[in-house]
Amino acid sequence: MRYISTRGGMPPKKFSKILLAGLAPDGGLAMPEEYPEISPAVLEEWRSLSYQDLAFEILSRFADDIPASDLRGIIDRTYTSELYRTDEITPLKTLEPGLHILGLSNGPTLAFKDIAMQLLGNLFEYALTKTGEDLNILGATSGDTGPSAEYAMRGKRGIRVFMLSPQGKMSHFQTAQMFSLQDPNIFNIAIRGVFDDCQDIVKAVSNDHAFKQKYHIGTVNSINWARISAQIVYYFKGYFAATRSNTEQVSFAVPSGNFGNICAGHVARMMGLPIRKLILATNENEVLDEFFQTGCYRPRATAETVHTSSPSMDISKASNFERFIFDLTGRDTAKVKELWRAVDKGGAFDLAGTPLWEKVKDFGFVSGTSNHAARIAMIRKIREQYGVLVDPHTADGLKVGLEHREEGVPLICLETALPVKFSESIVEAIGQEPARPSGYENLENLPQRYVVMNADADAVKAFIVEQTSGISG
Ligand SMILES: *Cc1c(COP(=O)(O)O)cnc(C)c1O
Repeated sequence: MRYISTRGGMPPKKFSKILLAGLAPDGGLAMPEEYPEISPAVLEEWRSLSYQDLAFEILSRFADDIPASDLRGIIDRTYTSELYRTDEITPLKTLEPGLHILGLSNGPTLAFKDIAMQLLGNLFEYALTKTGEDLNILGATSGDTGPSAEYAMRGKRGIRVFMLSPQGKMSHFQTAQMFSLQDPNIFNIAIRGVFDDCQDIVKAVSNDHAFKQKYHIGTVNSINWARISAQIVYYFKGYFAATRSNTEQVSFAVPSGNFGNICAGHVARMMGLPIRKLILATNENEVLDEFFQTGCYRPRATAETVHTSSPSMDISKASNFERFIFDLTGRDTAKVKELWRAVDKGGAFDLAGTPLWEKVKDFGFVSGTSNHAARIAMIRKIREQYGVLVDPHTADGLKVGLEHREEGVPLICLETALPVKFSESIVEAIGQEPARPSGYENLENLPQRYVVMNADADAVKAFIVEQTSGISG
């Protein structure tokens, strides 16, 4: 398996060569040259596999330059019942016949991002051990990405994490998740400013190519192909759990932001998983719903991004969306390049009335939006009707998923976080605090380790230099 860029400007590369890279040199995203095709016979064999065995079958098709026994070891270290507090890793909860929630949030930070990020941590450590290199991961977070990146990279050889967050702007729970980590390779930097200031610093440091190269600066953002490939696994797992035979079709409802999660569903469908609909749910930031309703993709300016009660879906630009358009155009890299010429300049493109727009429906996508009132009502309804408590993001997925539910087609709603992370909305919905999973009772009272800095890229650079002294350039 080799990888090419959605914009056509990268010679084909193996998995290990794209693992640590961000964007392709031409600004595009890495995509497999072709998707592995899963025949009905193979799908039948996979039905009875454990999560780990299924992960191996799928990932070995994408990461075929990692020796099988090494990959097996990485997967077995990543998907353990200790870390996920369940043997099934992603257990399926049935609300009523034909309506399910796929539990993706049992990892250490209680959000679905752990599933991909934990794999990334072990893949990075494996790759760096081979080359003897170091990596300094620089990131900005307003919530879920920071904790899951830190828990994935803590204690990993050759890796340091420098995570910027807006001081005092995250929930107490999320702040405590990150700041309570005492691992010497994790550096929490609270910035006097807002999330955009943090992101601007990451951009400024990454654009200083000399500095980036000298200090081996990398990222763990959601465009990383390894993250997408890890997420493909649970679409298969969820499908097998919700059906009895491979003649059945299911639909998935996916709370979406950067289009990473649902992109994995799209790839699973392209590989041959019998998915009828991929139901994309947005919150008040409805960039993606607008596209699937009208054909117009119009990323918003950061200032137009609304802060909502499902904050991990507050995006103005869906970084993985280009991967879908690449497939939609029949992998016409010139066309993708043309469309993103406008997007990269802050513009938009509109496929309405073109043959491409006609083709969107062939890929199974439908969409809808949710908002604060609908999300709170859905949390209450699911609790009253089924005795199950869901978080605000999962509630957005359920809201839009139920609108598109079809008779006789099982609907699987992806749970992207646990309610305990968003207790304010839960209290608003049901009048009481969400229960805490064991081990998290005392989180906010643990000693915290972080530094505070002004929103100043040079100060952050100086801090990185200070902490990495000893690395040769
Ligand atoms: C990241 C995140 C999302 C959005 O997922 P994408 O892959 O960016 O579409 C939804 N819900 C939660 C809780 C998240 O952390």
